[in-house]
Amino acid sequence: MTSYKELGLVNTKDLFKKAVSGGYALPAYNFNNMEQMQAIIMACVETKSPVILQVSAGARKYANQTILRNMAKGAVEYAHELGYDIPVVLHLDHGDSFEICKDCIETGFSSVMIDGSHFSYEENVALTKKVCEFAHSQKDYVTVEGELGVLAGVEDDVSSEHSHYTQPEEVIDFVTKTKVDSLAISIGTSHGRAKFKPEQCTRDANGILIPPPLRFDILEEIEKQIPGFPIVLHGSSSVPIEYVHMIEKYGGKLTDSVGIPEEQLRKAAKSAVCKINIDSDGRLAMTALIRKVFFEHPDEFDPRKYIGPARDELKKLYAHKNQNVLGSAGQA
Ligand SMILES: [Zn+2]
Repeated sequence: MTSYKELGLVNTKDLFKKAVSGGYALPAYNFNNMEQMQAIIMACVETKSPVILQVSAGARKYANQTILRNMAKGAVEYAHELGYDIPVVLHLDHGDSFEICKDCIETGFSSVMIDGSHFSYEENVALTKKVCEFAHSQKDYVTVEGELGVLAGVEDDVSSEHSHYTQPEEVIDFVTKTKVDSLAISIGTSHGRAKFKPEQCTRDANGILIPPPLRFDILEEIEKQIPGFPIVLHGSSSVPIEYVHMIEKYGGKLTDSVGIPEEQLRKAAKSAVCKINIDSDGRLAMTALIRKVFFEHPDEFDPRKYIGPARDELKKLYAHKNQNVLGSAGQA
């Protein structure tokens, strides 16, 4: 049994309260290796932003949960060494069973997501409620994120061919019955780097795909139902075209990449949306820089020489997100 407080971590409770009233969203960045963690912490210390470090089921498999948990502990100490203590949350992304959530809660996670969105409504309620009862009865309260509505796209072990939007008429019943601390909703964001099929988009003069806008009408309706309740957006990478072009210039191929425009996320962050998940953009930044080094220096074989520049780029990307997209800069 390890409590997150022993690791120097915090849950999302107070952070979300401040974010909702302050009109900004917390960054939730996925990590599964040291360089990503360093880039996240450097950027968040520099911009004085609180941060949610997210671990997916895929990351647990890849990097080992014990190692990731100790990296989160290291992240807290690293921030301190860099000269500014920022609040750090360690969050399980897309937990798909009670057992996984329990395991994470007992080994130092301060927050978990239980994703029952693929089950029937009643099963989703029952599973989410069970996780909440367990998480909330710990000596140190662990926060729980639930999900209503299904996002399309592929993210590690989570994939769905079709999305369906969150139904605003369900949200009061869901949050009341389950007692979740925050709710992930589906209003048109999507997992992965190709968030929409070309036929769902229009094209600009340069042939670049323009995605359909987010359904702010549904978001507003949800906010009316549960005013001030913390809302979460998954699948919120913007898929910067510069990275896609860089990757393709240096030998990659990422056909029909398209993300969520940053202006729309900025608008969402000003509402009750208080957590925005960004993973694909970090993957693109790392891949672009690694490909560039390999292309320009075919003789390079020291991993530090190609992962280092990727880490620098990641840090720039995260600082930009905190300052210009989420509005979390200066809030720690
Ligand atoms: Zn997600």
